[in-house]
Amino acid sequence: KFEALVVDREQDNVFYSFKKLSLQDLPAEDVLIRVHYSSLNYKDGMAVLNRGKIVRKYPMIPGIDLVGTVEKSKSPAYQPGDPVILTGWETGETHWGGYAEYASAKAEWLVPLSNALSMKHAMSIGTAGLTAMLAIMALKKHGINREKPILVTGASGGVGSLAVAILSRLGYQVDASTGSESAHSFLRSLGATEIIDRRELAEKPRPLQSQRWGGAVDVVGGNTLSNTLAGVSYYGTVASCGLAGDNKLNATVYPFILRGIKLVGIDSNTCPPEVRKEAWNRLAEVLSAELLDELTEVHGLKDVPALSEKILRGEVHGRIVIDIQQ
Ligand code: NAP
Repeated sequence: KFEALVVDREQDNVFYSFKKLSLQDLPAEDVLIRVHYSSLNYKDGMAVLNRGKIVRKYPMIPGIDLVGTVEKSKSPAYQPGDPVILTGWETGETHWGGYAEYASAKAEWLVPLSNALSMKHAMSIGTAGLTAMLAIMALKKHGINREKPILVTGASGGVGSLAVAILSRLGYQVDASTGSESAHSFLRSLGATEIIDRRELAEKPRPLQSQRWGGAVDVVGGNTLSNTLAGVSYYGTVASCGLAGDNKLNATVYPFILRGIKLVGIDSNTCPPEVRKEAWNRLAEVLSAELLDELTEVHGLKDVPALSEKILRGEVHGRIVIDIQQ
């Protein structure tokens, strides 16, 4: 028997509980994984506390990220003992995720864990870091003005803090937009050159504004994204990753037709395996163990419900790793 956090539904009532499950309860996919660590993302908070429609099958083990060792494999790609990462592919949404001691996954969803990363550090990165790296790869591919800073919104959160850290390590100036006064020194320690008050970007947008940024990584959406588009300089790119503030976009076409700005969407969930592997290799290269420790708190599985409340209130800075064996 093993421990799991399970979200279930009885009529209209959706609730979580801790349960003892057996290996026979797991869906029979190609690869059985002993889970060492998972993480807590905004989406996990929503899944555990039944906000939004994240969970689409019941019962569900949430946890969109996990890392562990292969116990059994029907796929020639993986052997028992191999360390593997699973993020996205609707893990913790339509099939069972990382908040349990075991998981079962299709081989094609997995990424081998690089020797350069420990399991704990892989989960410090998790979906948040993968998303940040995919956004930065998109900025480089579609163009940015290197003379100006890159803006990161929702900067103290998981995606935001990792985007700040990666951009700074890659030599960019970074403007970090945050609503958390208590996060200013944390953001500067990650490499932010300027801190912008979140309220400034949440104001009613004007269609074109002074060209402050060479490009941007946005996790907030709404007015923040509109103001970002209006403030990026010629031919810059904005990567839209999230909706922590608002899922709407009320903008004009002026930044696109008068400045050649590009708006690129990021979807880490269905990102193709080759791009995923490239992103993980780059993440292992650019992020040091010390830096990842600095932005990570480690907690046990039992803490997930309380931490879910906290992340949905926007009170989590950096990343939370869940030690499943703790
Ligand atoms: P997180 O750790 O909770 O970070 C979100 C940050 O946004 C918060 O720390 C806060 O930063 C800011 N924020 C919160 N509420 C806000 C509000 N009402 N208005 C403006 N800013 C607000 O969450 P995360 O895991 O990094 O995810 C961030 C967003 O990206 C979520 O919407 C998530 O669904 C999305 N996401 C998308 C992908 C993808 O593949 N596209 C992958 C991962 C996450 P400050 O306090 O610093 O302002």
